[in-house]
Amino acid sequence: MSVQLTIHVDGDWRKAASGATREILDPVDATAFAVVAEGGVADTDAAIDAARRAFDHGDWPRTPVAERAALLRRVAGLLRRDREQLGLLESQDAGKTVEEGRVDIDCVADAFAYFADLVVNETGRVVDAGSSEIHSVVVHEPVGVCALITPWNYPLLQASWKIAPALAAGNTFVIKPSEITPLTTVALIRLLQEAGLPAGVANIVTGAGDTVGARLAEHPDVDLVSFTGGIVSGTKVMRAAADTVKKVALELGGKNPNVVFADACATAAGFDTAVDQALNAAFIHSGQVCSAGSRLIIEESLRERFVDELARRAEKIRIGRGTDEGVECGPLVSAQQLARTEDYVASALTEGAVLRAGGIRPEGPGYFYRPTVLDRCHRGMRVIREEVFGPVLTVETFRTEDEAVALANDTEYGLAGAVWSGDPGRARRVAGRLRHGTVWINDFHPYLPQAEWGGFGKSGIGRELGPAGLAEYRETKHIYQNLAPRPVRWFAG
Ligand code: NAD
Repeated sequence: MSVQLTIHVDGDWRKAASGATREILDPVDATAFAVVAEGGVADTDAAIDAARRAFDHGDWPRTPVAERAALLRRVAGLLRRDREQLGLLESQDAGKTVEEGRVDIDCVADAFAYFADLVVNETGRVVDAGSSEIHSVVVHEPVGVCALITPWNYPLLQASWKIAPALAAGNTFVIKPSEITPLTTVALIRLLQEAGLPAGVANIVTGAGDTVGARLAEHPDVDLVSFTGGIVSGTKVMRAAADTVKKVALELGGKNPNVVFADACATAAGFDTAVDQALNAAFIHSGQVCSAGSRLIIEESLRERFVDELARRAEKIRIGRGTDEGVECGPLVSAQQLARTEDYVASALTEGAVLRAGGIRPEGPGYFYRPTVLDRCHRGMRVIREEVFGPVLTVETFRTEDEAVALANDTEYGLAGAVWSGDPGRARRVAGRLRHGTVWINDFHPYLPQAEWGGFGKSGIGRELGPAGLAEYRETKHIYQNLAPRPVRWFAG
């Protein structure tokens, strides 16, 4: 297999300076289907230099906002043109079904279109300085060179939530995709080139976190680092960025509660919807979703009936190759994720959880694990406190509204959660008390590019999407102009 040129610096596609390469594995059968450049510190430094030059001396930061927006719209169009091919690549690389891959690409295009529209309307403001002799305006400027570090579960989607606002605001960047799933991000950089982005504005270095990622986080010429990934790497990034006082944005993990009141299931249709959505919350993309509803917190009176149905339906989920007809769940992304999932299930069973579905890896190659339901879980268990990032749904119960809220908030994380109730007043009341960055009422998982995404607590710092997602990539400057300057005479002499 020939080595793909996956490092892009100053408009030029190249191999790693060291010549090192990495095989990209198909998680369905653990075979290599691509070989990419394994960048190192020298490649990262070259990419940062290019981004620095393009920012300090290039046209992009000074390009009129309407032109930047037009480029973003062209990129959205190119993504839609290549939807099928990119969706397939995302499916093969990340192990998701091809339909999920296609939906991801639609969402990526939507992110570019959204930030194109937003940036032309968020242009700053005139401030009333209280005098006709003073003209005071607040304007936005790009931050500078941005380091963007992304994970493997939604490779291109997470990249687009950073790249689109960074470009809209006039920044230059170096992106480091996950070493497990770099291919669609490489393809996106090619589309940016095709759309006419000047050389040096968008750079990519494929490689490992502890070399390329760590260098990006510490480098003095980087002004901002935006990281999406796990808490362990996220805290390292924050520490490395501290010496140079970079702006830091972190989108970390979650341990997300799905709270179901019995009144949500008063009718057969309500029951069916709540069970169906609990499955979707926990098992889509085999649970490898930062906002996965992996903690089902259910009213005690409903538990037996609900868990019976949940387990019955979980056992019927069809797992397999994401491109095969009828497959609902792909494999886990890597041997490491599979081992981690097995370890959490084993520890939960040792600590007293009751296995109601799954708990096994099927025979054959690939990193598959059956959707798993663990009943009778409690706070003392590791599986309740820590993010599994696999197809594992735990069940806890409550008797009162206060107890439901206390359980749902009893986590160091705070990314997302849901409340299901047939009583709109209760649903809204509980939603207001949940300490999570997104709360769904009678739904799970949808997000909107227009609405901020991010976490309370250890789920991160800052927000992506929405106006705050653009603000992350802008400096704000107050320009105060005195139209009639005269001496102050503070100093008498
Ligand atoms: P990870 O932390 O292992 O890796 C994320 C990225 O960081 C990768 O590109 C990796 O190479 C890089 N990295 C690793 N060590 C680094 C270091 N020392 N310095 C700089 N970069 C480093 O995470 P992952 O396993 O790829 O992704 C799964 C995690 O991402 C989960 O915890 C999940 O919840 C989280 N996630 C969060 C969101 C969100 O929006 N909050 C979205 C998707 C994923």
